[in-house]
Amino acid sequence: MSELKFCQGPECHQHQTQDRLKGPKGNKTYQTRRRSSMYYGTGNFCSMQCYNEWADVFIDRAINHFGRTTEAKHLTEHNAWTKDYNYQHSSGSDRTYVCVNSITKEQRPLTEAQYNDSNYTINTGE
Ligand SMILES: [Zn+2]
Repeated sequence: MSELKFCQGPECHQHQTQDRLKGPKGNKTYQTRRRSSMYYGTGNFCSMQCYNEWADVFIDRAINHFGRTTEAKHLTEHNAWTKDYNYQHSSGSDRTYVCVNSITKEQRPLTEAQYNDSNYTINTGE
């Protein structure tokens, strides 16, 4: 049984739906949704509406806290590597893993472990 967590939408409780109406008879209130899993905002919001309402209130502070983009970033041959895989049709469902450079079109072989390691990259720039 996974733990229940609350929707982080600041106005979730203000949306008057039957599933939010909780409490003892005669003393029911609309309450923030609480679920074991939610689909929006990496699992923090019960709906896109709640996600957007959070963003309306907090997004400027979040961007300023973590760093606002103030100049263009550049995609170059140094940071254009992405992971991909090819099916080997001759040998059934075996895959071969590669890094593909979207600028130069160069491909370099990857091991399956490197492919699955979300921290592994051969990019040398942002
Ligand atoms: Zn919500």
